[in-house]
Amino acid sequence: MTGSHADDGWVSCTGRVFAAFGKRYEVVTDDGRRVDCSLRGKLRLETGALVNPVAVGDRVRLDVPADGDGAIVEVLPRRSRVSRTATGPVPLEQILAANVDLLIAVFSVRRPRFDLRMVDRLTLAAEAGQVTPVIVINKIDLARRSDLAELADLESRFSFAAYPVIRVSAATGEGIDELAVRMRDQVSLFAGPSGTGKSSIANAIDPSLELRTGDVSRKIGRGRHTTTHSALLELPGGGQVVDTPGIGVLDVWGLASDDLRQCMPDLAIIDDECRFRDCAHGDREEGCALSAAVEAGRIRADRLDFYRKMRAWLVEREAP
Ligand code: GDP
Ligand code: ZN
Repeated sequence: MTGSHADDGWVSCTGRVFAAFGKRYEVVTDDGRRVDCSLRGKLRLETGALVNPVAVGDRVRLDVPADGDGAIVEVLPRRSRVSRTATGPVPLEQILAANVDLLIAVFSVRRPRFDLRMVDRLTLAAEAGQVTPVIVINKIDLARRSDLAELADLESRFSFAAYPVIRVSAATGEGIDELAVRMRDQVSLFAGPSGTGKSSIANAIDPSLELRTGDVSRKIGRGRHTTTHSALLELPGGGQVVDTPGIGVLDVWGLASDDLRQCMPDLAIIDDECRFRDCAHGDREEGCALSAAVEAGRIRADRLDFYRKMRAWLVEREAP
């Protein structure tokens, strides 16, 4: 294998974390070797306060002995991440996966009916971690004529942000190929409310993809070991899907109120100046460029409304 040879028989190389079982990791080296790893003590000390210093999808530097287990010595910079807040005495960030390309935000027409605010929040959580959102509306086979206007409204709303919206049915196979093509050669993570059909869609794309989507009791049953296990699953056409428990609760970890607008592409592209430099873009703000853009039909009023509420919440969270 490639890498620099140390005097003591260990080889240093880089690789990607394909599975995480608590404190143990399975790393695939750049030359294709699977190595079981633990964390080198120094890294463990440096990252002592983190819930998980290493996540699936991480690129790492590791030391590998001639035989036996390897040691992860460094986590290389992440280009993106999907996180949630781990509850405890103090809230901490738990990284569900690193270097994810697509967040597949799955909602359904019925059972349960999609909720626009939940779509807003999930796409924002993706953007906050530098992940591209793809909105999937499943169970299109259940759509009635009366659902279609609302569905078209959802599509229009998110077209302002240039988010793709794909109508699918895991039951009939409609739209599944279109989604599979988008996921090719990408690292994807399925998220969305429980019961919207995330595991069914994964299964429709490839029957060997068995996702656990947070419904622990139904899908994996007993065993602490299995519930903490996360992995990258290979897609037949190239690319991977992140399999991780507990994805129903993504949030905008670490997002600063001043960065919120950059995470909403439909609002971010309005580069007109507000009349006052410290404009809070509040309701009925005199001379606010965002309010003016709503008047001009360049952004949607409901998206600006979401922005205002989210901003107020983030500002409150930042207050000392
Ligand atoms: P998850 O919790 O998001 O993983 O959702 P599941 O994949 O477990 O699906 C929840 C329920 O919705 C199951 O009873 C599925 O059979 C059903 N379901 C999933 N996809 C479809 C679909 O496209 N059409 C219909 N009619 N039912 C679906
Ligand atoms: Zn303004």
